[in-house]
Amino acid sequence: MIDAPERITLEEWDLRYEKLYRAGLPQPAYGGPLSRHVSDGDHRLLKLRYDNSPAALRLWNFLLTEEDRLHRARAAGKKIVGTMKDLGTVPVMAYSFDNMVAFYPDGAWWIPCVMEYSAGLLEIADSLGIDESFCPVRAMLGAFVTEAHFPIPNMLICSVGATCDDFSAIAQRLNGLGHSIFWWEIPHRRCPEQAEATAELPGGLSAPRCQVEFVKSELARVKVALEQLAGAELDEERLSAGIRQANLVRQSLAELRYLAFTAEPCPIPALEMLVAEMLAIHYCSDRGETMVVLEELLDEVKVRVRAGRGVLDADAAKIFWVNPVADLQVMNLLEDCGGRLCGTEYLFTHALDPIPENVPPLEALARAALADPMAGSSIDRAERICSDVCRFGAEAVLISRIPGASHCALEGQVISEVVADTLGIPVLEIEVPPVADSMSPTVRTRLEALAETVRARRRSRQNRWRNG
Ligand code: SF4
Repeated sequence: MIDAPERITLEEWDLRYEKLYRAGLPQPAYGGPLSRHVSDGDHRLLKLRYDNSPAALRLWNFLLTEEDRLHRARAAGKKIVGTMKDLGTVPVMAYSFDNMVAFYPDGAWWIPCVMEYSAGLLEIADSLGIDESFCPVRAMLGAFVTEAHFPIPNMLICSVGATCDDFSAIAQRLNGLGHSIFWWEIPHRRCPEQAEATAELPGGLSAPRCQVEFVKSELARVKVALEQLAGAELDEERLSAGIRQANLVRQSLAELRYLAFTAEPCPIPALEMLVAEMLAIHYCSDRGETMVVLEELLDEVKVRVRAGRGVLDADAAKIFWVNPVADLQVMNLLEDCGGRLCGTEYLFTHALDPIPENVPPLEALARAALADPMAGSSIDRAERICSDVCRFGAEAVLISRIPGASHCALEGQVISEVVADTLGIPVLEIEVPPVADSMSPTVRTRLEALAETVRARRRSRQNRWRNG
């Protein structure tokens, strides 16, 4: 017998926590009631709804204690590497050392949401000339100035080249503030020309061999810099072991995503899935614990699927979500409006796809880095979205634009057109600021309309089928 899965408020979680605690719930060192994080300033937590499983409790506690973990790593003498923009490549190298922890300062883009603007990070970015014409990643600048959210890393590494204008400008501004950055380049991925030597990339992509060689040479520079910082060599054997560990995380997540997106009824809410996917990028500063957290979540989902139980109505509209959402609450809203998550593309499919293990490790990482959806054309991105929409059986696509993001201005339109032409399913674009309360009625109406459109299309298909 399992507890009925449901989405509950923070207050309800506290009551449930008390019961579980008294019943002897085993907890990690970072465990505890979720509401304690509100006193750290995470006010948005009061407005979210959460999955009620102990596995989800562990996931949230793991996420919300990352700053403590980084400070503890610093105190334990570990080297902290701030990896920026590449989303999933350099951390694989960093975690191959025993004495190194990597994290993404870019993750500060959620602080204005989680702390409901109370940290004042966007105002600091404004004062540094990075105003709201840039995407919310500009909050990272404020986090470096206040030093209130993560320890200043021993080394900053940032990918450039095929990077959005926003990040390029924000990282340069950070450099201008005196934070030294090790830059490495990923070129814009292009199609191989006729007779040009080609390399296969994860995700069914390909690139000219010379581009893979170039990225490999860039990663070799990164490797030397990391070795100097760690005071240890990163040989092929060690790096290959790091890649195997990364692939274990990706494999676990792949299984979780497949069940979460395809099982009926939906076994786990969209918000927990968003957090789970984010773990693949840099393991929330602890690779070993990431595996445990994901395995626990996967076990919970498997139990629910076997029991035919879920958190939403079985007829929820199946929505494929494009781009990470600046306000986490909107993932709740999707479900409140009759939708469910049925596939995602949060700008880092290259951090989810398995890294090749049949080629030398630096080459494998170069191929993975070049598969970054932001390194290629919007058409490539749209085609991957279409393929995943079919794989998961989604009935509509929702593109959540990120305010100020340079790539969102036209990319949404390209993706909409390709999806509509290829699959003929509804596509909706919405823009979501870090705290979307004032827009909530509009967003709600649009999400409800999308869910209703999906259901109307289902009814019409059933009628056509009945009428032969
Ligand atoms: S513009 Fe988009 S890709 Fe660039 S930093 Fe902002 S959210 Fe990330």
